[in-house]
Amino acid sequence: MAGTLYLVPTPIGNLGDLSPRAAETLAAVDFIAAEDTRVSIKILNHLGLKKPMVSYYRHNTETSGPQILQRLLAGEDCALVTDAGTPAISDPGEELVALCVEAGVMVVSLPGPCALVTALAASGLPTGRFTFEGFLAMNKKNRREHLDSLRGETRTMVFYEAPHKLVATLSDLAETFGTDRRVALCRELTKLHEEVIRTTLGQALERYREQPPPRGEFVLVVEGAAPVEDAPALTLEQAVERVCILYQEQNLPMKDAARQVAAETGFQKKELYRLAVQR
Ligand code: SAM
Repeated sequence: MAGTLYLVPTPIGNLGDLSPRAAETLAAVDFIAAEDTRVSIKILNHLGLKKPMVSYYRHNTETSGPQILQRLLAGEDCALVTDAGTPAISDPGEELVALCVEAGVMVVSLPGPCALVTALAASGLPTGRFTFEGFLAMNKKNRREHLDSLRGETRTMVFYEAPHKLVATLSDLAETFGTDRRVALCRELTKLHEEVIRTTLGQALERYREQPPPRGEFVLVVEGAAPVEDAPALTLEQAVERVCILYQEQNLPMKDAARQVAAETGFQKKELYRLAVQR
């Protein structure tokens, strides 16, 4: 009989968040598949466990995945762990789970630490409907397409980000959603210097633009757009005026200002741009 793949969440900063069930599972399985064995060994040491480990990370999923599957099919139980948080959530695991499901191997997902849920719950923004966007692409074109697809999104949006890319991401978010859009910047969650800053995209950008990159990892929880019926309808003239304000007072390039107001109002970007440069 085939074994079981257990998805075992590990702490995102506070060892106390490792659940008793996670510890029991790590103790009970035949082997552990780890994103980085040097990171996971610390958890095993903390629990006083010795367990065979194999490495399963983003760049070896194609070779390591089938090997893990073979062992599962041969009857061994495996726990999948990543460096922090819930496996398969912006972490290696998604493909292994798909492989196991396809092969009829049982997958058991343990609930536990996950940065996105922790941040969303603390954000103070609506949690009833939300969308998880993970990391924005580095590639400019893909990043722009991703952000453009979210322009009219009314659900709360959750993004992951590394500290050295924070300012660039805040800048792109402000350009896409407007500087007044509310955001919760959740940093170092569950750690000693945990911080949740609830502000607007414009203020967040001002705050971080001038200083060296902040330390720690971030989750950005961004308010969704106001439903169209709630948004005040602007005349074309008012919309052009808003383009000029964004250009003059917030230093947005005219094209970007026109794009933002077009998204907000439904007027054509080209038309807004043309009228704004004539002023
Ligand atoms: N699988 C993990 C989970 O369940 O949250 C996510 C892994 S993803 C590779 C790493 C990203 O999660 C970081 O760049 C950051 O955006 C977020 N993250 C992880 N730990 C965090 C923490 N303690 N505080 C804030 N964000 C965190």
